[in-house]
Amino acid sequence: MSRKATTCLLIPPNFITFAPQNTGAMVPIQMVDLKRQYAHIKEEVDLAIQQILNDAAFINGKPVESFSQNLSAYLGVKQVIPCANGTDALQIAMMALDLQPGDEVITPSFTYIATTEVIALLRLKPVFVDVDPETYCIDPQAIRNAITPRTKAIVPVHLYGQSADMEAIMQIAEAHGLYVIEDNAQAIGATIRFSDGTVHKTGTIGHIGCTSFFPSKNLGCYGDGGALCTQDDALASKIRMIANHGQSKRYYHDVVGCNSRLDTIQAAVLDIKLQKLDQYNEARRKAASVYSSAFAHHPKIKTPVVAKNNTHVFHQYTLQLNGVDRDGLVDYLAAQGIPAMIYYPVPAHRQKMFSFLHLPEVELPITDQLTEKVVSLPIHTELDQEQLEFITHHVLKFVNH
Ligand SMILES: *Cc1c(COP(=O)(O)O)cnc(C)c1O
Repeated sequence: MSRKATTCLLIPPNFITFAPQNTGAMVPIQMVDLKRQYAHIKEEVDLAIQQILNDAAFINGKPVESFSQNLSAYLGVKQVIPCANGTDALQIAMMALDLQPGDEVITPSFTYIATTEVIALLRLKPVFVDVDPETYCIDPQAIRNAITPRTKAIVPVHLYGQSADMEAIMQIAEAHGLYVIEDNAQAIGATIRFSDGTVHKTGTIGHIGCTSFFPSKNLGCYGDGGALCTQDDALASKIRMIANHGQSKRYYHDVVGCNSRLDTIQAAVLDIKLQKLDQYNEARRKAASVYSSAFAHHPKIKTPVVAKNNTHVFHQYTLQLNGVDRDGLVDYLAAQGIPAMIYYPVPAHRQKMFSFLHLPEVELPITDQLTEKVVSLPIHTELDQEQLEFITHHVLKFVNH
């Protein structure tokens, strides 16, 4: 018998028959499928954009005000101030709270770089703390341990789409007179229920909430965009001023600010997509539940944990692998046409960017473990059953091999 024939016999025939196959009919799998999402709202979006082209009101056109009001109603927050992107939102928040060089800001290291970058940009001092091993969001006890007389603010990140423990965080902040800036770039639409029974949308609990409308976010535009929100009218005026060159009235500039606007076309797209946000988040949750049933109780796979008072909007669907060759899995999936990503391979406290600050060494064991073990699977509003089965089949095939 030739070597080739022997190899063929090693493939179980029933596997070939029953395994989900990409027959060519299946829609190619994207990490985020913005093309197919657009196809459902094309008429409405095209019309809105055409209107803006006709009016040539590219900056501060009507849709900017309309979207801001609709978002404020959706979130149940008094003030929404749109801006150019989520990173600017975080920077403007820290400027508006008058944080001064050297002030300490407590933040997770396990996050997208924007959260921590703006702290250093403003010459504030990032104090990196560890995350909760279940939710991957900032650990309240780690915050308590990191507080010093120079601590001025806490920046929790609602990572992957669920709220950090905001009830505990607000209690700590009140006890120590600290500001809380929520990084809500990944969790718009998520809620948390406090022990008094009140339900809050993420981004509306701290002094300022910041979000991003980057195209792949749960509420994404077709370019860059972001927003801040707050329940405090005076703070909102200050934020508006800072986002607009520190201007109090035209050509009178009271403070140093920046130029950060949401343009009219992006606002119009967002106004349309905001009406579908709950539906979009529900579609993400459905996809996540298919994944989580397929991987349930697997000894090598930890599926996402939703904290008991939270709703999760699955900006990412992230597994933690134990005893699996993660790079091998990512390569294997790529070969099957399945994208998978590592969010995030290098935590902030190990980024060269911060070396100029000469920060004291910190030990963040959970963060370090996660950067080595997490992998995120495709998650978006357009995933169908066939794609989900194809993905789960191949993940399990590799993990079990
Ligand atoms: C996307 C993101 C940001 C930054 O938003 P941009 O609009 O890209 O500037 C900040 N923080 C987190 C956690 C994010 O995921």
